[in-house]
Parts: sequence; C-alpha cells; structure tokens
Amino acid sequence: MAKIFCVANQKGGVGKTTSAVNLAAGLAKVGQRVLLVDLDPQGNATMGSGVDKRQLELSVYDVLLESASIQEAAIFSEKCGYHVVGANRELAGAEVELVDLERRDQRLKLALEVTDNDFDFVLIDCPPSLSMLTLNGLCAAHGVIVPMQCEYFALEGLTDLVNTIKQVHANLNPDLKIIGLLRVMFDPRITLQQQVSEQLKSHFGDKVFDTVIPRNVRLAEAPSYGLPGVVFDPSAKGSQAFIEFARELVERIPTL
Ligand code: ADP
Ligand code: MG
Repeated sequence: MAKIFCVANQKGGVGKTTSAVNLAAGLAKVGQRVLLVDLDPQGNATMGSGVDKRQLELSVYDVLLESASIQEAAIFSEKCGYHVVGANRELAGAEVELVDLERRDQRLKLALEVTDNDFDFVLIDCPPSLSMLTLNGLCAAHGVIVPMQCEYFALEGLTDLVNTIKQVHANLNPDLKIIGLLRVMFDPRITLQQQVSEQLKSHFGDKVFDTVIPRNVRLAEAPSYGLPGVVFDPSAKGSQAFIEFARELVERIPTL
C-alpha cells in the first residue's frame, strides 16, 4: 500500500516545493517507487522535476475533473527517477469548477486508490493556502509533512495548520495526522533559529524530524536547471540532508 503524504504549510516560500521534489528524489535514490503530485497552479514542483508545465497533455486538473486517470496523467522523469502528475495555471480554474461537483474534496483520494500498488510513496505538493485544492490533498493523504523555517512567526502559522488538520481529521479523513515537522533553510549560526528549534522540540517532541535541512544555495539553484538539488548536485550539503531525510522517513514508516 502506498504511503500518501501531503507537503503542506499555508505560508508561501517556506520550502514546500523544495522539500517535495528533493524528498521525492531522495526516496527514489534509496530505492522507493515514488509519485509526486503537483497541486499548486504555479507548477513549480512540475518544472523542478524536469517536466515542462507548458507542454502537459494531461495534468492534475484532468485528474480532479475525472477526465484522466493518474496512470494516464503521470509522466516518468528519467533524470529524477520518479513519476510526476504535473500542474499548470489551468489548475487555478479547478477551484471554481469543483464547487458544483459531488464529493469535490475527495477527487484526488478516489483517483489515487487505483494506483495504490504502483508506488511506495505518493507525495503531494500543496499550494500556499487552505483551498479546495489543499483540501483534496489532505483528504487523500495518510499524513502531513510540514516544512518550516525556525523563525518567530513560524510557530504562529503552525497553529492554523494544526487546527485545519484536526478539523479534516474529525470530519473528512480519520486517517490524517501530522507525520512530522521538517526544519528547513536552517542556519545554526542564528540564535533565534536555535531557540525556535528547541521550542519546536519541546512542544512537538518526536513529531519533529531528526534531520535538519540547512540553508544551501545549491538547493535554490537547482530549479533553474529543472532538477531537484538531490539530482543536480548530490554531494551538496542540502542534498545530503534530503537523502538522509528520505532514509529517516522510510525508517519511521513502521512506527506510524
Ligand atoms: P514554497 O513551495 O513553500 O513556496 P519553495 O520550496 O518554492 O517554497 O522555496 C522558496 C524559496 O526558497 C525558493 O527560491 C527556494 O529555492 C528557496 N529554498 C528552499 N529551501 C532552501 C534551502 N534549504 N536553502 C536555500 N534556499 C532554499
Ligand atoms: Mg511551492
């Protein structure tokens, strides 16, 4: 059975897409069969996996509107070693088109049920909002991976996300839980970051992943080459951290 995880945080620019593509590439490197679903109309995870969002014949939009299956829409990225269901601006319209449809929040879940045996992991890159798209992600998933920067306002934003996850858990998807908080763009020289990191650990205990992703320019450069950092420069510190994170996640699966 595939483990389905959303990479979510309603804040923009916190490292969701970077985490999604690099975790996908890291999991592929350690031998896992991975599907990455891009749920953000910006299509950054699509482009960052070497798939041109402007040339998609079928995308996650078609999957949500049931005009294509996951198998039909998935593209294997040779360079990255994982499958991608891409997204582009067309997806922004899905929000409105879904409103009148039945079980509009369960569309992705139903689509993924058919591919359950094809993958070990399905990662869903969510947009920076708690929209119908994100709701489809949360309804489809077993858990949420929350990338966060160790800054003061990060904790505040977390409360909203935790409440949303609780509500979805209570009303729509009893499987849903927080898998873990991933500290990203970490700079150990900054005292505030160390303090917030400690606060996180005391509040959330073992829900905080052991692996810490450092701020690393190679991770930021990689998308302009259409690659995750893990593929673009596997020896970079940030890439090594994501490979380590992939291992940590695989090890945690039996305990979830
Ligand atoms: P989101 O998907 O949450 O909007 P992104 O993953 O697109 O966030 O990241 C926002 C910006 O931060 C991007 O320019 C990305 O390249 C950069 N970035 C993300 N993680 C790191 C990191 N660990 N080190 C350096 N830059 C990073
Ligand atoms: Mg993003």
